[in-house]
Amino acid sequence: MKPLGPVPAGYDTIGGELAIGGRTASALIAEAGGTPLFVYSRMHLDRRMIDLRAAMPERLAIHYAVKANPWQPVLQHMAGLVDGFDIASGGELALVMDAGIDPARVSFAGPGKRDIELEAAIRAGATLNCESENEVRRALNIGEQLGIKPRLAIRVNPDFELRGSGMKMGGGAKPFGVDAERVPALAKEIIAAGADWQGLHIFAGSQALDAEAIAEAQGNVLDLAAQLADDIGHGALPKLNMGGGLGIPYFAGDTPVDVRVVGDRLAERFDRLPLSLRETELCIELGRYLVGEAGVYLCTVVDRKDSQGETYVITDGGLHHQLAASGNFGTVVRRNYPVAIASRFGAAAEEVATVVGCLCTPLDRLADKALLPRADVGDVVAVFCAGAYGASASPAMFLGQGPAREILV
Ligand SMILES: *Cc1c(COP(=O)(O)O)cnc(C)c1O
Repeated sequence: MKPLGPVPAGYDTIGGELAIGGRTASALIAEAGGTPLFVYSRMHLDRRMIDLRAAMPERLAIHYAVKANPWQPVLQHMAGLVDGFDIASGGELALVMDAGIDPARVSFAGPGKRDIELEAAIRAGATLNCESENEVRRALNIGEQLGIKPRLAIRVNPDFELRGSGMKMGGGAKPFGVDAERVPALAKEIIAAGADWQGLHIFAGSQALDAEAIAEAQGNVLDLAAQLADDIGHGALPKLNMGGGLGIPYFAGDTPVDVRVVGDRLAERFDRLPLSLRETELCIELGRYLVGEAGVYLCTVVDRKDSQGETYVITDGGLHHQLAASGNFGTVVRRNYPVAIASRFGAAAEEVATVVGCLCTPLDRLADKALLPRADVGDVVAVFCAGAYGASASPAMFLGQGPAREILV
């Protein structure tokens, strides 16, 4: 038997079934027209932001990293909750503009921005978090051709990283950002060219659960930004995107980040900022922390069988919608996400079963040797923590399966 991850708070049982936002899984499936289905809960999205705002210093702006979940209804809902949006492609720029989000609230990071993407962002008035000297020069040229002052920030490749980070994106050689020691010269070039200097973006890592590690990384970000601002010598830094890093518990033994500790430590730092950061607009950018626990993936059991003493529960879902839950999205050792039998959410666990998808590959595993209530054909399986890096980060076209349905409740 292998343990399951912890089911996030705020999910109830109604009539023995999983309920999301006060509605049963079967009612939601009927409304959406079937499974596989992603259900996103407004109540969870709202609650998460309320709690986060309460924990963080008022001065800290909160941005949403669109790549976690770019689905239009989710984006539109987030537009009413967060202060800004971070995008990573021209495609995401189009999505935020379709959602009616003011591009002045948008910053665009990501290596390998093509000229056409730089142009679209400059025309729209979004901030470019430039990832290289070359990119700065291309953006300056495009701005000149368009007769628009580009809004330019520099993404810094910091020389430290967030401890316990799920995905390493800072410290050492990286395709992301400009090495810290080269940033002052590049910032001076941007300012001398007459562009609209927006400041710095420093992202040290992702998916951390240890509040002290996050606080330490944020302290390092503030120290580095202050040092760079002094070296740039252009007075106070206009903006500083301090990165993200807050994770969610996916696996057995994971515990939620204590955001009050992160907020208190940040407030202490904000009380004694150096002159170069005292007037700076400060933000963090979060993806999975804001939307991950608000999503549940529902799929229907289409078969069950035994093989050499092991029970397999076979669903109409799979890794084509849930690459991360299957353990194939940047994980070294496969562990079980929080998975439940939604149609028997109140029932006691009674058998050890492996829940698989409908794809003809051994990688397609939603829960491995998990202790669950018995699931028969027609029962519904729920995979939690499905709000981030689910639908848009999975190969929906693999084996001709196609996308899942999505619904916001
Ligand atoms: C992916 C990414 C994020 C969001 O990461 P989460 O783990 O979803 O919070 C934030 N900033 C940058 C630069 C990213 O690449």
